[in-house]
Amino acid sequence: MVETNQIVDRDTMAQPELTLSLCKDLSVALAKFPRVALGHLPTPLEPMDRLSEELGGPRLWVKRDDCTGLSSGGNKTRKLEFLMADAVQSGADTIITQGATQSNHARQTAAAAAKLGMECHILLEDRTGSNDPNYIMNGNVLLDRLHGASVSKRPGGADMNAEMVALAEDLQQNGKTPYIIPGGGSNPIGALGYVNCAREVTEQAAAAGLKIDALVHATGSSGTQAGLVTGLAAIQSDIHLLGIGVRAPKDKQEGMVHDLAVRTAEYMGTGVQIDRDLVRANCDYVGPGYGLPTEGMIAALKLLARTEGLLFDPVYSGKGLDGLIDQVRKGYFDGMENVVFLHTGGSAALFGYPDTFDLHGYTS
Ligand SMILES: *Cc1c(COP(=O)(O)O)cnc(C)c1O
Repeated sequence: MVETNQIVDRDTMAQPELTLSLCKDLSVALAKFPRVALGHLPTPLEPMDRLSEELGGPRLWVKRDDCTGLSSGGNKTRKLEFLMADAVQSGADTIITQGATQSNHARQTAAAAAKLGMECHILLEDRTGSNDPNYIMNGNVLLDRLHGASVSKRPGGADMNAEMVALAEDLQQNGKTPYIIPGGGSNPIGALGYVNCAREVTEQAAAAGLKIDALVHATGSSGTQAGLVTGLAAIQSDIHLLGIGVRAPKDKQEGMVHDLAVRTAEYMGTGVQIDRDLVRANCDYVGPGYGLPTEGMIAALKLLARTEGLLFDPVYSGKGLDGLIDQVRKGYFDGMENVVFLHTGGSAALFGYPDTFDLHGYTS
């Protein structure tokens, strides 16, 4: 028997109550999917007041997904909670994935596989052509090896998906049961991690009495943004989401994000519709190419290191930050009060790029 006073009429609910009630529904929807605990969640949400003062725009905050804990943290940990659970459930004993040489995704995957007692094979694509020994062996590559992953290289432009399939066939012939995780962990399963993050940051802000106007982050293989778009749509959030591209041009990036968000919503089976205009990417901060430093990234990274004591990376979060800072200066967020930068991690890659920061004898 249903008592009428227990039926929630959403149209008459105040917006914050509606949002929190939709967050609960989203938790229930996500709980249907297998998940292993790998990250320290929820990650902190902290003000960046010295930076805000320096820039003179909205109050800036940082969502610390660089603090997810797994092998120094980063955004791939949230995706791996769902991907590794799917791997375990499918009976796999071996993980295969791929990325660029200084891939943070590869490093977190190697760590997750180690924690779950699985073998891990990583294929690294040389997208930059750098011969710097630090780039080739230090930073994330050092950590991949420390976690016991087997690491092998492929030339830039190789068909990495085909390479992973070929490796899986070899491993199968040797009696292994491999599970392939796509680059960046970006498929509907991995994106669930960021559907969950949309819920997490919304509940966290509500508990702190904070109204988030915009959420900004670096976008690459698109799973992070696709998950956030899907999660924010599910809770009918009006947070303005902006991805800062690190590789593809705007049309391609937005198309990838939208496509994956639609597939993620379908996979969840909650009937959430993903409008194309919810997907916004600014791809003006890529510079000469993926993984290649820009002046803006260097300046942004140094500014945050010196005003907030925060570390970012040259490939993703540093370029995302360059976009955030430049857009604050250009007035993109004018009229907004609180803008959150989602820190997707990556500072382990700094040790692959020591010369970029030209700190020998640095005095100023
Ligand atoms: C992978 C990565 C991103 C981009 O996330 P996608 O889900 O691939 O778009 C951003 N920042 C860092 C540090 C990353 O490692």
